[in-house]
Amino acid sequence: MPYLDHAATTPLRDEVLEAMLPYLKESFGNPASVYAAGRQAKKGLEEAREKVAAAIGSEPSEVIFTGGGTEADNLAIKGAAEKLHDRGNHLITSSIEHHAVLYSSEWLERRGHRITFLPVDSSAMVDLGALESACSDETILVSVMAANNEVGSIQPVAEVARIARERSRALVHTDAVQGLGKIPLDVKELDADLASFSAHKIGGPKGVGALYVRSGTHIAASVHGGGQERDLRSGTSNVAGIVGFGEAARLAVLEAEDEAKRLAKLRDRLEAGLLASIEGIVVNGGKSPRLPGTTNLSIEGVEGESLLLMLDAKGIAASSGSACTSGSLDPSHVLLAMGVSPEMAHGSLRFSVGRTSGDEDVDAVLEALPEIVGRLRSIAPRVVSR
Ligand code: PLP
Repeated sequence: MPYLDHAATTPLRDEVLEAMLPYLKESFGNPASVYAAGRQAKKGLEEAREKVAAAIGSEPSEVIFTGGGTEADNLAIKGAAEKLHDRGNHLITSSIEHHAVLYSSEWLERRGHRITFLPVDSSAMVDLGALESACSDETILVSVMAANNEVGSIQPVAEVARIARERSRALVHTDAVQGLGKIPLDVKELDADLASFSAHKIGGPKGVGALYVRSGTHIAASVHGGGQERDLRSGTSNVAGIVGFGEAARLAVLEAEDEAKRLAKLRDRLEAGLLASIEGIVVNGGKSPRLPGTTNLSIEGVEGESLLLMLDAKGIAASSGSACTSGSLDPSHVLLAMGVSPEMAHGSLRFSVGRTSGDEDVDAVLEALPEIVGRLRSIAPRVVSR
């Protein structure tokens, strides 16, 4: 089945499952226990920490395992706000962040923090001039994602950090969930204090992630209990999941360069084919530096959700820019922030190729989509206002 939704999640890699299995069976001990079974689990846990650290350019002690990217983002943002509330109450983030960052920020806003949501241009690149103007002595955190999950735009995080440090005493956080294994990503080169990662975007298991916390950076815990993970994320460690994350991160970074070239070719062929065969189609954010495997398209006169359903009927998995919440279709906040009209945002589709994708997946979309669009347009012709 053509699966073109690797930005949503990826299949677990065989090598990762192999690495995890012993920790679901014989090495089942609690890593906090002193006896042999515990020590074995602890060894697996710490080896995984070393692998993740090597993949992101940090020290192992700077890696805090979490229950995924969402939790890492929550820990970074709420943890920084709580720890630094004596210093100031202003946070800066961008208007195209994942909801894990946006909603954590809005949660703080309802509790009296001041949040600046930086605008982006039509290519989904964050406005650095607006960042310069927004920074002040009151700013305690600047959070800008490494790469956007909907359109794939790659943000200049090192430049964001430079501006933030020049103009404030803020900590710098980056949500690097979509970047790991796809673009060169070294937390020291990015000069981030905090960075979020997730295993399931790179062939690892779901429900496992990490927050990089630079040595000497202090944030408050959000989950309290047994004091695991440097007291920042209590709870008995998900050893098998973490071991899987370690192996997935190691492999993803090892293969990243070759994969990026291969995926960009697939993505470019898909885009070129669709642009040539469908009228009234545009690539959203196509001019920015982008993740190699992601494309986001808007098609005039059709609904993204209808396209998805009809693609699904042909066995093709993709994603739309609309979030279906309680029966209403909200157009993507990312596309709206880029200045895409609500109508075109409603007609958006995201295709993301990944490790298991090949030419046959692209061919399947190129064959199916023009016909689907034609059919939908003939059933329900809709005038698109621009
Ligand atoms: N941040 C970004 C940019 C993402 O794309 C995602 C996943 O959709 C997340 C955070 C959340 O990660 P997780 O699914 O591991 O909670």
